[in-house]
Amino acid sequence: MNPSRRAMPTHLGLGAAARVFFGFGSPRIILVVLLAVLGGRVAIGGWSWWDLLGPGVVLAAQPFTEWTIHVCLLHFRPRTVAGRRIDPLVARQHRAHHADPRDLPLVFIPLPALAGLIAVVATICLAALPLERGLTTLVAALCVLFTYEWTHYLIHSSYLPRHCLYRYVWRAHRNHHFRNEHYWFGVTVHLADHLLGTFPERTAVPVSRTARTLGVEEAA
Ligand SMILES: [Zn+2]
Ligand SMILES: [Zn+2]
Repeated sequence: MNPSRRAMPTHLGLGAAARVFFGFGSPRIILVVLLAVLGGRVAIGGWSWWDLLGPGVVLAAQPFTEWTIHVCLLHFRPRTVAGRRIDPLVARQHRAHHADPRDLPLVFIPLPALAGLIAVVATICLAALPLERGLTTLVAALCVLFTYEWTHYLIHSSYLPRHCLYRYVWRAHRNHHFRNEHYWFGVTVHLADHLLGTFPERTAVPVSRTARTLGVEEAA
């Protein structure tokens, strides 16, 4: 067994689940960066209604961002281009996550990818917008990222859904893992799935035999 594997004790409460969550690097890094950027934004001041624009765009795009990254990047099938094998780290880890959805470290964004993602988003926000609006937008993007990590983790934890909204995303993501990996690509929100036809009735699609491999035969 993988020595880094940490399985969740059964049926944790929300507080205990949160303590396990903050034992992983990704949530702690996102939170520290988020607090630092938020502190910088508050210190600078100069608030205006324009501060709502960037977060509005981030939130409106989120269902499609999440869907597109899941379909195009996380489920990217390895291929050879000009003699080079293209198989990004995040795609490899996502296949490992599908192979063993209970292995908690595999639930989180790999740290090199997280660092790259934060750097790219920060660069875009600060290059495209005045400093004040750029920092506000970056705070919103980091909140979205943190929410994604928390939701994905909680779905794979043994915390059982008690509220209908959480039950809805919990069930959909479990369908993605255990019913058919070609559907239910959202994690925190399923608007894109509903609009793009990837949120069927559970029984309307067959149980996929490749839900654990994503159809990729891993080299020994
Ligand atoms: Zn998952
Ligand atoms: Zn997937």
